[in-house]
Amino acid sequence: MEENDSQQLLRDVDAYVERLYAPKDPVLEAAIEDSRRAGLPEIHVSAAQGKLLRLLAEIAGARRILEIGTLGGYSAIHLARALPDDGTLISLELSEQYAEVARNNILRAGLDGRVEVRVGDANSLLAEMAEGGEAPFDLVFIDADKTAYLDYLEWSLRLTRPGALILADNTISGGSVLDPQNENARVVREFNQKIAEDARLSALILPIIREVVDGLTIARVVGA
Ligand code: SAH
Ligand code: MG
Repeated sequence: MEENDSQQLLRDVDAYVERLYAPKDPVLEAAIEDSRRAGLPEIHVSAAQGKLLRLLAEIAGARRILEIGTLGGYSAIHLARALPDDGTLISLELSEQYAEVARNNILRAGLDGRVEVRVGDANSLLAEMAEGGEAPFDLVFIDADKTAYLDYLEWSLRLTRPGALILADNTISGGSVLDPQNENARVVREFNQKIAEDARLSALILPIIREVVDGLTIARVVGA
């Protein structure tokens, strides 16, 4: 099979799976539409990946979720749908403008009772949470600036309980992590290596089909 044929096949397979298991959803469509209108970059997870996030949170029985990188709240809506009524998702976002768009999208989704968007640099917000004795999280989704991924991993380990899941987006990023010369991918490459070697975690990267191939890291904090 030609390279282009196999790429087309992968896209068709992704569309097939999405049609069946992540069909169009008015609340999610509206979140994307409002984010676009507000000028946010279109870098949210795909519909199928959103469904995967939700499933993983459900399988983990998550009651407390931490998200690092809110954007317009698209992935937050998927994750928050996995929560019980008294569950909590705290999502961290640098941009006040993005956070405001996200809050409106979350409100329309009827999830404002479970989701809190905090504005600021994630590293500072995470330090505050650790110092403030924040209750441990059952699941963390890392999806903010890639340059700080190693810091986010350490904070995630401090802020989770044994058995918790730590997920991270964009850990393959078009295959750029495979190229040792690619400076842009250096931190994510180190992040991937660190997780692979860290005895505190049991993990894998799941390749994800998008416009380009990407990856979702699924790591479990050992000990429970
Ligand atoms: N999880 C979202 C996409 C997040 S995109 C979704 O899939 O729907 C990455 C987000 O991280 C952007 O909104 C960006 O503003 C935010 N971000 C970048 N640097 C940050 C930082 N230092 N602290 C907190 N958020 C940051
Ligand atoms: Mg991402």
